[in-house]
Amino acid sequence: MTLLQARGLMKSYGPTPALRGVDLDLAEGEILAVTGPSGCGKSTLLHCLSGILRPDAGEVLYGGQRLDTRSEADRSRLRRTDFGVLFQFGQLVAELTAAENVALPLLLAGQGRREARTAALDWLERLGVADVADVRPGEMSGGQQQRCAAARALVTGPKVLFADEPTGALDALAGERLMAQLTQVAHERRTGVVLVTHEDSVAAYADREIALRDGAVDPTGLGADVPAGG
Ligand code: ADP
Ligand code: ADP
Repeated sequence: MTLLQARGLMKSYGPTPALRGVDLDLAEGEILAVTGPSGCGKSTLLHCLSGILRPDAGEVLYGGQRLDTRSEADRSRLRRTDFGVLFQFGQLVAELTAAENVALPLLLAGQGRREARTAALDWLERLGVADVADVRPGEMSGGQQQRCAAARALVTGPKVLFADEPTGALDALAGERLMAQLTQVAHERRTGVVLVTHEDSVAAYADREIALRDGAVDPTGLGADVPAGG
């Protein structure tokens, strides 16, 4: 079933067009990689899809309903209940342990402490970092921190995870571990993932890939520059 759709998305910052008519579909449990060189519009697309930015033209549909025309308050509520986000730097709270960080969204949503901790431990286990449950971010490796951040993004059971260069700060091995675990979770829990990356080795984990080039989907599927004569 289709979770998220974009039709003809256009967005400019002043005179600079960042998106020039982008179409895409994301199905339940599907990992869609959005690739392309820096400045091609990946972050702008992610922000339009997640309702942070309103496109200038075109539409975003979530579960078949227009998302982009809803009020700021509605979109903000939807982001909390239905969407999860994971950035390049996980932004864990330094003063809290891994388990406390992961439990935080549940506590904020009104869940009891014991229940929230149980769910947090469960998600740390699922991401392969149960061993650092009571450790603070400063004492974890970058890869462990990102997997905790992923657990925190997923603990509320989002339907869509928006991941913006989630492996960007990790070495190759840590990046692969994160992607392997994210892929497994997405497929098991039917979570749709929009994965923004400029790394081919990361995009390789996706079920499908669209390449952006100057704000449009590249029909050749090649996001990067193709050398002249090559
Ligand atoms: P990517 O994520 O692929 O690097 P972005 O979506 O960040 O691409 O940027 C697309 C284009 O829009 C670039 O030309 C960038 O300079 C421009 N841009 C992005 N954000 C802003 C902004 N807040 N103000 C002005 N221009 C912006
Ligand atoms: P680019 O895709 O051009 O490398 P970034 O992804 O670094 O650009 O940033 C694009 C947008 O995403 C920026 O407007 C920034 O505010 C937001 N952003 C990037 N990283 C984070 C983060 N860790 N936390 C919150 N916002 C972020």
